[in-house]
Amino acid sequence: MFDQLASSVLDGKPASADDALAVLRAHDDELLDLVAAAGRLRRAHFGNTVKVNYLVNLKSGLCPENCNYCSQSLGSTADILKYKWLQTDEALEQAAAGLKGGATRVCMVSAGRGPTNKDIDRVADMVGSIKAEHPDVEICACLGLLKDGQAERLKEAGVDAYNHNINTAESHHDNIVQTHTYADRVDTVGKVKSAGLSPCSGLIAGLGESDEQLVEALFALRDLDSDSIPVNFLMPFDGTPYENTWELEPTRCVKILAMARFVAPDKEIRIAGGREMHLRSLQGLALHVANSIFLGDYLTSEGQAAEDDLALIKDNGFVVLGAPDAAADPADAAPVSVDPAKRRRGAGTDLLPNA
Ligand code: SF4
Repeated sequence: MFDQLASSVLDGKPASADDALAVLRAHDDELLDLVAAAGRLRRAHFGNTVKVNYLVNLKSGLCPENCNYCSQSLGSTADILKYKWLQTDEALEQAAAGLKGGATRVCMVSAGRGPTNKDIDRVADMVGSIKAEHPDVEICACLGLLKDGQAERLKEAGVDAYNHNINTAESHHDNIVQTHTYADRVDTVGKVKSAGLSPCSGLIAGLGESDEQLVEALFALRDLDSDSIPVNFLMPFDGTPYENTWELEPTRCVKILAMARFVAPDKEIRIAGGREMHLRSLQGLALHVANSIFLGDYLTSEGQAAEDDLALIKDNGFVVLGAPDAAADPADAAPVSVDPAKRRRGAGTDLLPNA
């Protein structure tokens, strides 16, 4: 059934809401068939490439908004780094680290309801410095709700894309945040598109939404024509209203990504926050459906080592999009050598076994 659905989508017939629900509710014993079918769409549009993005948190914590899932929100007592705006040279240094590590897009993020015009000037200055040293870099800004004219100002400064997630279905939005509305978020995505910036908007799964609401959110993103769709899996920080909320299993996460691929086959589907925590050993399988990840750390939490992210890509037969030295065929790349470590515990020793 999923293979037929993939053929139909490749022939130009969009997936329906019922199709999306069927993907989401696939049995675990259908998982490989589902990944193979969604993988056909992924390869048709993105080949064997993975886009690697790098987050720079320009201003962390102390946000006046009350997004219940967010460690930086009003009322959160999560143990996170809190600091005011980075200086331009600090932002440049952080961005350079991500680019050196293999990223091609830098995502410049600040906590807050939205930027002042002075904040826009500050970010424009940072963007100018980064682009002067790294002219090929793609820059995505994520600064909150935009006022009239701010998206145009960012575009003039050299920003390529703007991220503003709708996060969840309209029918669930007011359960997760009360200080702004779903319409506010959609309005900012509209401003981004009008200014000629590439819209990046995605969702967070695991917020108590129903299957139907996940489908609703994905169809809303399709209607918004978001070029890239980050799919976050809730990281339930202690000190936030969602602490101890664990609704996701690795197989469920793969099905959510597959659903996104069927609904928006030619869009960048990014495995975003919560990848390591929720996909765990299925991260590699998920790459056969999604085509984009963040490298290294997230805004307020640590990710796995950046070199492990790059190994994840290579080990699964993919190459980093835009990397100058990426082998066209990963099979041509030199094998990774790891020396076997001598066993020093368990049978034949006085030490406890590794079990
Ligand atoms: S998601 Fe953004 S707007 Fe909402 S609390 Fe976090 S930093 Fe503030």
